[in-house]
Amino acid sequence: MNRKVIIGGAWPYANSSLHLGHLAALISGDVLARYHRQIGDKVIYVSGTDCHGTPITERAKKEGISPKQISEKYHKEFDMVFNKMNFSYDLYTKTEDEYHKEKVKEIFKKIYDNGYIYEKVDEDNYCEHCNKFVADRELKLTCPNCGEETKGDQCDCGYVPTKDDLKNAVCIDCETKTSTKPNKNLYIALSKLQPNIEEYVRKNETNWRKNSQNETHKYLKEGLKDRAVTRNLNWGIEIPVEGFEDKRMYVWIDAVLGYITTVMKYCEENSLNWEDWWKKKEENENIIYMVHGKDNIVFHTLILPGLLLGINENYLLPDKIVSTEYLNFNDQKFSKSKGIGMTILDAIEKYNTDTLRFHLIKNGPETKDANFTDDDYTLTHNEITNKLGNFVNRTLKYKGLLQIPNGNIDKDVKEYIENLYKEISEYIEKIEFRNATNKIIELLDYANKYYDDKKPWIQFKENKNEFDNIIYTCAVIIANISNVIEPFMPETAEKIRNYLKIEQKTWNYIDIQEEVELKNIEPLFERK
Ligand SMILES: [Zn+2]
Ligand SMILES: [Zn+2]
Repeated sequence: MNRKVIIGGAWPYANSSLHLGHLAALISGDVLARYHRQIGDKVIYVSGTDCHGTPITERAKKEGISPKQISEKYHKEFDMVFNKMNFSYDLYTKTEDEYHKEKVKEIFKKIYDNGYIYEKVDEDNYCEHCNKFVADRELKLTCPNCGEETKGDQCDCGYVPTKDDLKNAVCIDCETKTSTKPNKNLYIALSKLQPNIEEYVRKNETNWRKNSQNETHKYLKEGLKDRAVTRNLNWGIEIPVEGFEDKRMYVWIDAVLGYITTVMKYCEENSLNWEDWWKKKEENENIIYMVHGKDNIVFHTLILPGLLLGINENYLLPDKIVSTEYLNFNDQKFSKSKGIGMTILDAIEKYNTDTLRFHLIKNGPETKDANFTDDDYTLTHNEITNKLGNFVNRTLKYKGLLQIPNGNIDKDVKEYIENLYKEISEYIEKIEFRNATNKIIELLDYANKYYDDKKPWIQFKENKNEFDNIIYTCAVIIANISNVIEPFMPETAEKIRNYLKIEQKTWNYIDIQEEVELKNIEPLFERK
C-alpha cells in the first residue's frame, strides 16, 4: 500500500501530569502509526502540548509562576513520557510554537475573510474591581438547581447556569459582585455550516466509533450554535482582526488547527508537500484518523470539520474517529484532587511499558468504560510472559543448540501465519484493536500448542531431521510474531528482531534465511 495517512493524537492540556486514562485514549494512535508504516503507507503522526486556555492560567496563578513557565514544564514532561512509552510521533510540538501561532493566525484570517467568522456584541460579566471581563468559570454563584456554591460554567450537580443566573454572580478572584457590559467578540457561524457538516457526517460516520456517532447526532439534532472564538485573556494566540487586540483565540480553535500546522511544519522540514496529505488527490489514497477520549468528540467531528469547511480550499476532513470511552482506576474516576489514579510517569517506574501498552489496548475503554487495577495488569503481564516469553525461551534457548537448524517450514503453520496477517490487518483498519490483540494471544496459544504436540524433546533423540524442522518452524513463528506485535509491543519486537537478525519489520510472512547463532538470548520479560 502507498496511501497517505495522517494520524492526529489529541493535544493534552499543560496543567497537570498525564495519567493512565490519557494513555488509554491515545495509545491507539501509535498502534495505527506503526501499523500503517509497516504495511508501506506514508504516515505523518502528530500531536502537541496545548499550552493555552484558562485551566493553564489558573494553575499558573496558583503556583505563582507565568503561564509560559507552567506550560513549558508540562510540555517537557509530556514529551518525555510519550518517548518512554515509545509513541512514534513524527512531530510532537506545542501550541506556543511560533510556526504554529503564525499558521493558525493565517487560517483564522481566511475563515474570517470568507465570512464564517463574524462580529457580535454581547452583555458579558465585568468585574469593576479587577477591571476585566470575567469568563463563566471565573464566576461564583449559588446554584439555582441544588443550592450549593458553584463556578459559573457548570455545577457538580450537572446544571449549567444561564445568562440570567450569572447576573448575580461574584468574581472568583475578589468576591465582588459583577455587572454586565457590552463586549465585542468574534463567532464562528456553525449554524450556517450545518448543512455541509451534516453531509460530511453522513458520508463518514460508518468509519467512526459508536460514541462519536451518537454524540455528534445529539448536537446536530439540537441545531449547531455559533460559538465565540475570542476571549478576554492575555495568554493565547492573538486575533488577526483589527479591534480585537485585547483578546485571544479560544483554545479549542488553536488546538484542533494544530493537526494542520504540525503536518505543514513536518512537511516543510522534510521536503514534502503538505497538500498531498490535507487536500484531495485521488479517491482512497488518503486517510485521516483522529484519536482522543470521548470528552473531545465534538471538537473533532463538528468544530474541526466546520473550520476546514470555512477555509473553503478543499481540505480533506477526518475519515476515522477513534474515540475511546473512559478508563476508571480501581472502579473510581481519575481525580487528582482526591488522589485517585496513577500518572504515566509512575506507571513507567512500576510496569513493563510493552505489556502496559498491550494491556491498555486489550482491556481498554474501546467501546465501553473500562477499569484499571494492578491485579488485572499483572494478569496480562504474566500471560504474555508465559505465552510469549516462554515460547521464545524454549525455542531459542533449547539446551545445547548453538544456531537455528536448517529445516523446512511446516506448510500448515505457514498458511496459518499468512492468514493471521490479513485478519489482524482487517481489525486494525476497522479500528477494532481489542480484537487484534486477541488474535495475537490466539497466535501465541497456537505456537505453544504446536510445540507441545510436536514434542521436540522426543524427536531430538529419535529423529534429528524432524527435530530440526520443528525448531526451524518455531523460530519462523517467532520471526513473524515480531512483525505482528510491533504496533503493540515495539520494544519486544525489536529484541526479537535482534535475536533473529531480522533487518526490517514488514507486514507479510517471513522466514529465516541466514544462519542465526543463538547467543546472548535473554528472557523477554520478568514475571511479576
Ligand atoms: Zn474581581
Ligand atoms: Zn448545582
